[in-house]
Amino acid sequence: MEQNVEKQHGTKLSYAIVGEPATDTVRWFVEGIHQRMQTQGHEYHQTPNDDTGLIFNLVDDETARPYRRKSQSVFVVSILEGKMPQSHILETAYPHLLKNISNLLIYHSRSGNGLHTYFVTPEQGFPCVILQEGKSDEYFDNAYERIAPLACSRFVINNEFIQDLPDELAAGTEQTRQLYYAGRKLDEMDLLPTVIKIEQFLNEEALRQLWRLYRVGGLSYGNLSVRHNDKTFWMSASGVDKSNLQHVGEHIHFVTGYDKKKNAILVSIPKHIERPNRVSVDAIEHWMVYTENPGVGAIIHAHCWVDDAATKMTGHTVAATKTSYPCGTVELGEDTASVIRNAPDPARVVVCQKNHGIVITGKDLKDIFDRIDNGSIRIVKQIEMT
Ligand SMILES: [Zn+2]
Repeated sequence: MEQNVEKQHGTKLSYAIVGEPATDTVRWFVEGIHQRMQTQGHEYHQTPNDDTGLIFNLVDDETARPYRRKSQSVFVVSILEGKMPQSHILETAYPHLLKNISNLLIYHSRSGNGLHTYFVTPEQGFPCVILQEGKSDEYFDNAYERIAPLACSRFVINNEFIQDLPDELAAGTEQTRQLYYAGRKLDEMDLLPTVIKIEQFLNEEALRQLWRLYRVGGLSYGNLSVRHNDKTFWMSASGVDKSNLQHVGEHIHFVTGYDKKKNAILVSIPKHIERPNRVSVDAIEHWMVYTENPGVGAIIHAHCWVDDAATKMTGHTVAATKTSYPCGTVELGEDTASVIRNAPDPARVVVCQKNHGIVITGKDLKDIFDRIDNGSIRIVKQIEMT
Protein backbone atom coordinates (compact mmCIF):
# COMPACT_ATOMS: atom_id res chain seq x y z
CA MET A 1 0.00 0.00 0.00
CA GLU A 2 1.45 3.35 -1.00
CA GLN A 3 0.80 5.14 2.25
CA ASN A 4 2.39 2.44 4.34
CA VAL A 5 5.49 3.71 5.99
CA GLU A 6 8.52 1.49 5.84
CA LYS A 7 9.41 -0.28 9.01
CA GLN A 8 12.78 -0.81 10.48
CA HIS A 9 12.10 -4.21 11.92
CA GLY A 10 14.94 -6.63 11.88
CA THR A 11 17.58 -4.06 12.71
CA LYS A 12 19.72 -5.09 15.64
CA LEU A 13 20.43 -2.03 17.70
CA SER A 14 23.90 -1.54 19.03
CA TYR A 15 24.06 -0.38 22.62
CA ALA A 16 26.24 1.12 25.30
CA ILE A 17 26.06 1.43 29.06
CA VAL A 18 26.88 4.76 30.68
CA GLY A 19 27.12 5.76 34.34
CA GLU A 20 27.89 3.70 37.41
CA PRO A 21 25.42 1.42 39.18
CA ALA A 22 24.34 3.15 42.38
CA THR A 23 23.03 -0.03 44.03
CA ASP A 24 23.64 -3.79 43.91
CA THR A 25 20.23 -4.30 42.31
CA VAL A 26 21.12 -1.98 39.44
CA ARG A 27 24.51 -3.69 39.02
CA TRP A 28 22.82 -7.11 38.92
CA PHE A 29 20.15 -5.90 36.50
CA VAL A 30 22.63 -4.32 34.11
CA GLU A 31 24.79 -7.46 34.04
CA GLY A 32 21.70 -9.53 33.27
CA ILE A 33 20.37 -7.30 30.54
CA HIS A 34 23.86 -6.89 29.05
CA GLN A 35 24.08 -10.68 28.76
CA ARG A 36 20.61 -10.86 27.20
CA MET A 37 21.52 -8.19 24.64
CA GLN A 38 24.64 -10.20 23.75
CA THR A 39 22.79 -13.49 23.25
CA GLN A 40 20.24 -11.64 21.10
CA GLY A 41 23.06 -10.45 18.84
CA HIS A 42 23.16 -6.74 19.69
CA GLU A 43 26.55 -5.17 19.26
CA TYR A 44 28.06 -3.66 22.40
CA HIS A 45 29.93 -0.37 22.28
CA GLN A 46 32.22 0.28 25.23
CA THR A 47 31.99 3.98 24.44
CA PRO A 48 28.90 5.28 22.64
CA ASN A 49 29.51 6.50 19.10
CA ASP A 50 27.33 7.89 16.30
CA ASP A 51 25.98 4.42 15.48
CA THR A 52 24.95 3.52 19.01
CA GLY A 53 21.17 3.27 18.94
CA LEU A 54 20.40 2.38 22.55
CA ILE A 55 21.88 3.80 25.72
CA PHE A 56 21.41 2.26 29.14
CA ASN A 57 21.90 5.23 31.42
CA LEU A 58 22.55 4.29 35.06
CA VAL A 59 21.29 6.99 37.38
CA ASP A 60 20.35 7.36 41.02
CA ASP A 61 17.39 8.87 42.75
CA GLU A 62 19.15 12.05 43.83
CA THR A 63 20.83 13.78 40.92
CA ALA A 64 19.64 13.92 37.36
CA ARG A 65 22.17 12.79 34.75
CA PRO A 66 20.54 13.07 31.35
CA TYR A 67 22.60 11.42 28.63
CA ARG A 68 23.46 13.95 25.95
CA ARG A 69 22.25 12.32 22.78
CA LYS A 70 23.17 13.85 19.46
CA SER A 71 20.07 12.77 17.63
CA GLN A 72 16.46 11.96 18.41
CA SER A 73 16.87 8.44 17.03
CA VAL A 74 19.00 7.43 20.02
CA PHE A 75 16.80 5.60 22.52
CA VAL A 76 17.74 6.23 26.15
CA VAL A 77 16.73 3.81 28.90
CA SER A 78 17.50 5.16 32.38
CA ILE A 79 17.81 2.65 35.20
CA LEU A 80 17.59 3.28 38.92
CA GLU A 81 16.51 1.78 42.19
CA GLY A 82 14.20 3.72 44.48
CA LYS A 83 15.43 3.75 48.08
CA MET A 84 12.12 3.13 49.76
CA PRO A 85 9.40 0.65 48.86
CA GLN A 86 6.95 2.77 46.93
CA SER A 87 3.23 2.72 46.74
CA HIS A 88 2.69 5.62 44.34
CA ILE A 89 4.99 4.37 41.65
CA LEU A 90 3.97 6.69 38.83
CA GLU A 91 4.19 9.83 40.96
CA THR A 92 7.58 8.77 42.32
CA ALA A 93 9.15 7.40 39.17
CA TYR A 94 7.82 9.70 36.45
CA PRO A 95 9.88 12.76 37.46
CA HIS A 96 13.05 10.62 37.07
CA LEU A 97 12.02 9.75 33.52
CA LEU A 98 11.72 13.47 32.74
CA LYS A 99 14.78 14.67 34.66
CA ASN A 100 16.99 12.18 32.88
CA ILE A 101 15.35 12.89 29.49
CA SER A 102 14.65 9.21 28.92
CA ASN A 103 12.52 7.29 26.46
CA LEU A 104 12.02 4.61 29.10
CA LEU A 105 12.74 4.43 32.82
CA ILE A 106 13.39 1.12 34.52
CA TYR A 107 12.54 1.66 38.14
CA HIS A 108 13.41 -1.02 40.69
CA SER A 109 11.65 -1.17 44.00
CA ARG A 110 12.30 -3.73 46.73
CA SER A 111 9.68 -4.55 49.29
CA GLY A 112 8.88 -7.43 51.64
CA ASN A 113 7.77 -9.54 48.71
CA GLY A 114 10.82 -9.16 46.53
CA LEU A 115 11.95 -7.11 43.58
CA HIS A 116 9.39 -5.20 41.52
CA THR A 117 10.65 -3.69 38.29
CA TYR A 118 8.52 -1.02 36.60
CA PHE A 119 8.84 -0.02 32.98
CA VAL A 120 7.78 3.61 33.01
CA THR A 121 7.01 5.20 29.63
CA PRO A 122 6.52 8.83 28.59
CA GLU A 123 2.86 7.88 28.00
CA GLN A 124 2.68 7.14 31.74
CA GLY A 125 2.52 3.39 31.37
CA PHE A 126 4.18 1.59 34.27
CA PRO A 127 3.70 -2.17 33.91
CA CYS A 128 5.59 -4.24 36.44
CA VAL A 129 7.73 -7.37 36.20
CA ILE A 130 8.23 -9.24 39.46
CA LEU A 131 11.31 -11.35 40.03
CA GLN A 132 10.13 -14.81 41.08
CA GLU A 133 12.52 -16.86 43.12
CA GLY A 134 14.77 -19.03 40.97
CA LYS A 135 13.29 -17.58 37.78
CA SER A 136 15.75 -14.90 36.80
CA ASP A 137 15.87 -16.24 33.21
CA GLU A 138 12.18 -15.59 32.74
CA TYR A 139 12.55 -12.21 34.39
CA PHE A 140 15.28 -11.12 31.96
CA ASP A 141 13.39 -12.54 28.97
CA ASN A 142 10.46 -10.44 30.01
CA ALA A 143 12.61 -7.34 30.56
CA TYR A 144 14.26 -7.74 27.15
CA GLU A 145 10.86 -8.13 25.46
CA ARG A 146 9.77 -4.85 27.01
CA ILE A 147 12.83 -2.93 25.92
CA ALA A 148 13.74 -4.20 22.45
CA PRO A 149 10.60 -3.46 20.41
CA LEU A 150 10.38 0.01 21.90
CA ALA A 151 14.01 0.77 21.25
CA CYS A 152 13.70 -0.46 17.65
CA SER A 153 10.65 1.67 16.84
CA ARG A 154 10.96 4.75 14.71
CA PHE A 155 9.74 8.21 15.67
CA VAL A 156 8.05 10.49 13.17
CA ILE A 157 8.08 13.66 15.14
CA ASN A 158 9.75 15.95 12.66
CA ASN A 159 7.47 18.56 11.23
CA GLU A 160 7.99 20.50 8.07
CA PHE A 161 6.21 23.82 8.44
CA ILE A 162 5.19 25.65 5.30
CA GLN A 163 3.82 29.17 5.68
CA ASP A 164 1.21 28.84 2.97
CA LEU A 165 -2.09 28.38 4.78
CA PRO A 166 -4.78 30.36 2.90
CA ASP A 167 -6.31 33.22 4.93
CA GLU A 168 -9.78 31.71 4.93
CA LEU A 169 -8.40 28.59 6.65
CA ALA A 170 -6.06 30.54 8.94
CA ALA A 171 -9.12 32.33 10.33
CA GLY A 172 -10.56 28.96 11.42
CA THR A 173 -13.34 26.85 9.96
CA GLU A 174 -16.39 24.96 11.15
CA GLN A 175 -14.03 22.01 11.82
CA THR A 176 -11.61 24.00 13.96
CA ARG A 177 -14.55 25.30 16.00
CA GLN A 178 -15.66 21.72 16.49
CA LEU A 179 -12.16 20.87 17.73
CA TYR A 180 -12.43 23.71 20.23
CA TYR A 181 -15.73 22.36 21.58
CA ALA A 182 -14.42 18.80 21.61
CA GLY A 183 -11.42 19.89 23.68
CA ARG A 184 -13.74 21.67 26.11
CA LYS A 185 -15.90 18.59 26.32
CA LEU A 186 -12.92 16.30 27.06
CA ASP A 187 -11.95 18.68 29.81
CA GLU A 188 -15.47 18.61 31.30
CA MET A 189 -15.28 14.82 31.25
CA ASP A 190 -12.01 15.11 33.15
CA LEU A 191 -10.12 13.28 30.42
CA LEU A 192 -7.43 15.92 29.99
CA PRO A 193 -4.65 15.61 32.53
CA THR A 194 -3.09 18.95 33.40
CA VAL A 195 -0.22 19.95 31.16
CA ILE A 196 3.00 18.93 32.90
CA LYS A 197 5.26 21.94 33.30
CA ILE A 198 8.57 20.33 32.50
CA GLU A 199 10.46 23.42 33.69
CA GLN A 200 9.95 22.16 37.22
CA PHE A 201 12.00 19.05 36.46
CA LEU A 202 14.56 20.29 33.97
CA ASN A 203 17.23 22.96 34.03
CA GLU A 204 17.82 25.48 31.23
CA GLU A 205 20.26 23.29 29.36
CA ALA A 206 18.07 20.19 29.51
CA LEU A 207 15.11 22.24 28.29
CA ARG A 208 17.16 23.50 25.36
CA GLN A 209 18.23 19.95 24.55
CA LEU A 210 14.64 18.74 24.65
CA TRP A 211 13.48 21.52 22.36
CA ARG A 212 16.35 20.97 19.93
CA LEU A 213 15.74 17.21 19.72
CA TYR A 214 11.99 16.92 19.91
CA ARG A 215 10.59 20.46 19.88
CA VAL A 216 8.92 19.65 23.15
CA GLY A 217 8.16 22.54 25.45
CA GLY A 218 5.51 20.97 27.65
CA LEU A 219 3.79 17.64 28.08
CA SER A 220 0.12 17.03 27.69
CA TYR A 221 -1.61 13.78 26.96
CA GLY A 222 -4.25 12.93 24.45
CA ASN A 223 -5.04 14.56 21.14
CA LEU A 224 -7.88 15.07 18.71
CA SER A 225 -8.29 15.65 15.03
CA VAL A 226 -10.95 16.21 12.42
CA ARG A 227 -10.88 15.66 8.67
CA HIS A 228 -10.82 18.68 6.33
CA ASN A 229 -10.92 16.88 2.98
CA ASP A 230 -9.72 13.58 1.53
CA LYS A 231 -6.06 14.50 1.97
CA THR A 232 -5.86 16.94 4.87
CA PHE A 233 -6.96 17.24 8.47
CA TRP A 234 -6.86 19.53 11.50
CA MET A 235 -5.14 18.34 14.66
CA SER A 236 -4.30 19.64 18.11
CA ALA A 237 -0.74 20.92 18.55
CA SER A 238 1.66 19.30 20.96
CA GLY A 239 2.04 20.49 24.55
CA VAL A 240 -0.94 22.87 24.45
CA ASP A 241 -3.94 23.06 26.73
CA LYS A 242 -6.53 21.00 24.87
CA SER A 243 -9.40 22.67 26.70
CA ASN A 244 -8.61 25.87 24.84
CA LEU A 245 -7.92 25.04 21.20
CA GLN A 246 -8.47 28.44 19.66
CA HIS A 247 -5.82 29.60 17.21
CA VAL A 248 -4.80 28.00 13.97
CA GLY A 249 -1.02 27.60 13.74
CA GLU A 250 -0.73 27.77 17.49
CA HIS A 251 -3.20 25.37 19.15
CA ILE A 252 -4.49 23.69 16.02
CA HIS A 253 -2.45 22.60 13.01
CA PHE A 254 -3.40 21.91 9.43
CA VAL A 255 -1.74 18.62 8.39
CA THR A 256 -1.29 18.21 4.64
CA GLY A 257 0.73 15.01 4.41
CA TYR A 258 3.75 12.93 5.27
CA ASP A 259 7.10 13.18 3.51
CA LYS A 260 8.55 9.71 3.58
CA LYS A 261 12.04 10.74 2.45
CA LYS A 262 12.38 13.40 5.13
CA ASN A 263 10.39 11.32 7.61
CA ALA A 264 8.41 14.44 8.43
CA ILE A 265 4.78 15.44 8.88
CA LEU A 266 3.86 18.34 6.60
CA VAL A 267 2.07 21.20 8.31
CA SER A 268 0.70 24.28 6.60
CA ILE A 269 0.73 27.34 8.89
CA PRO A 270 -0.39 30.97 8.61
CA LYS A 271 2.25 33.44 7.40
CA HIS A 272 2.53 35.27 10.71
CA ILE A 273 3.49 32.19 12.79
CA GLU A 274 7.25 32.18 13.44
CA ARG A 275 8.02 29.47 15.99
CA PRO A 276 5.20 26.94 16.00
CA ASN A 277 4.83 24.04 18.40
CA ARG A 278 4.91 20.68 16.72
CA VAL A 279 1.65 19.08 15.75
CA SER A 280 0.65 16.35 18.18
CA VAL A 281 3.09 13.46 18.18
CA ASP A 282 0.46 11.00 16.90
CA ALA A 283 -0.07 12.86 13.62
CA ILE A 284 1.52 9.96 11.71
CA GLU A 285 -1.11 7.60 13.10
CA HIS A 286 -4.03 9.94 12.32
CA TRP A 287 -2.60 10.50 8.85
CA MET A 288 -2.57 6.73 8.21
CA VAL A 289 -6.14 6.35 9.45
CA TYR A 290 -7.56 9.25 7.41
CA THR A 291 -5.81 8.25 4.20
CA GLU A 292 -6.93 4.63 4.48
CA ASN A 293 -10.51 5.09 5.66
CA PRO A 294 -12.64 7.66 3.83
CA GLY A 295 -15.47 7.06 6.32
CA VAL A 296 -13.46 8.24 9.31
CA GLY A 297 -14.06 11.95 9.92
CA ALA A 298 -12.66 12.41 13.42
CA ILE A 299 -10.29 10.74 15.89
CA ILE A 300 -9.91 11.23 19.62
CA HIS A 301 -7.11 9.85 21.77
CA ALA A 302 -7.28 9.99 25.56
CA HIS A 303 -5.43 8.36 28.43
CA CYS A 304 -8.29 6.29 29.78
CA TRP A 305 -9.78 2.90 29.07
CA VAL A 306 -13.17 1.40 28.13
CA ASP A 307 -15.37 -1.31 29.47
CA ASP A 308 -14.81 -3.48 26.42
CA ALA A 309 -17.62 -6.00 26.90
CA ALA A 310 -20.24 -3.25 27.24
CA THR A 311 -18.79 -1.26 24.35
CA LYS A 312 -18.66 -4.30 22.05
CA MET A 313 -22.33 -4.97 22.72
CA THR A 314 -23.20 -1.67 21.07
CA GLY A 315 -21.65 -2.76 17.77
CA HIS A 316 -18.20 -1.28 18.20
CA THR A 317 -15.00 -3.02 17.33
CA VAL A 318 -12.87 -2.93 20.46
CA ALA A 319 -9.37 -4.27 19.98
CA ALA A 320 -6.07 -3.98 21.75
CA THR A 321 -2.58 -3.41 20.42
CA LYS A 322 -0.03 -5.98 21.56
CA THR A 323 3.12 -3.96 22.16
CA SER A 324 3.37 -0.69 24.04
CA TYR A 325 5.21 1.23 21.35
CA PRO A 326 5.99 4.86 22.17
CA CYS A 327 3.71 7.67 21.04
CA GLY A 328 4.70 9.17 17.74
CA THR A 329 6.30 6.05 16.29
CA VAL A 330 5.54 4.44 12.96
CA GLU A 331 4.94 1.17 14.82
CA LEU A 332 2.24 2.53 17.14
CA GLY A 333 0.62 4.21 14.15
CA GLU A 334 0.73 0.98 12.13
CA ASP A 335 -0.65 -1.14 14.97
CA THR A 336 -3.51 1.25 15.57
CA ALA A 337 -4.23 1.84 11.89
CA SER A 338 -4.35 -1.88 11.16
CA VAL A 339 -7.00 -2.46 13.86
CA ILE A 340 -9.08 0.34 12.32
CA ARG A 341 -8.66 -0.71 8.69
CA ASN A 342 -9.65 -4.30 9.47
CA ALA A 343 -12.79 -3.38 11.41
CA PRO A 344 -16.22 -3.94 9.78
CA ASP A 345 -16.91 -0.22 10.22
CA PRO A 346 -13.66 1.79 10.56
CA ALA A 347 -15.66 4.79 11.85
CA ARG A 348 -16.88 2.81 14.81
CA VAL A 349 -13.74 1.54 16.49
CA VAL A 350 -12.14 1.79 19.91
CA VAL A 351 -8.47 0.82 19.95
CA CYS A 352 -7.00 0.09 23.37
CA GLN A 353 -3.33 0.96 23.12
CA LYS A 354 -1.46 -1.30 25.49
CA ASN A 355 -0.49 0.36 28.81
CA HIS A 356 -1.35 3.72 27.32
CA GLY A 357 -4.89 4.82 26.38
CA ILE A 358 -7.64 4.64 23.78
CA VAL A 359 -8.22 5.85 20.25
CA ILE A 360 -11.82 6.35 19.13
CA THR A 361 -12.90 6.91 15.55
CA GLY A 362 -16.13 8.51 14.36
CA LYS A 363 -17.89 9.99 11.35
CA ASP A 364 -17.27 13.36 12.98
CA LEU A 365 -16.50 14.67 16.47
CA LYS A 366 -20.15 14.95 17.43
CA ASP A 367 -20.66 11.32 16.48
CA ILE A 368 -17.92 10.28 18.94
CA PHE A 369 -19.30 12.33 21.83
CA ASP A 370 -22.87 11.24 21.15
CA ARG A 371 -21.79 7.62 21.59
CA ILE A 372 -19.92 8.41 24.81
CA ASP A 373 -22.87 10.43 26.13
CA ASN A 374 -25.44 7.74 25.38
CA GLY A 375 -23.26 5.06 26.97
CA SER A 376 -22.47 3.11 23.79
CA ILE A 377 -18.82 3.72 24.54
CA ARG A 378 -18.33 3.12 28.25
CA ILE A 379 -15.27 5.10 29.43
CA VAL A 380 -13.26 3.78 32.39
CA LYS A 381 -10.67 6.03 34.03
CA GLN A 382 -8.19 3.35 35.08
CA ILE A 383 -5.88 2.15 32.29
CA GLU A 384 -5.05 -1.55 32.43
CA MET A 385 -1.32 -2.24 32.89
CA THR A 386 -0.14 -5.58 31.57
ZN1 LIG B 1 -1.16 9.06 24.43
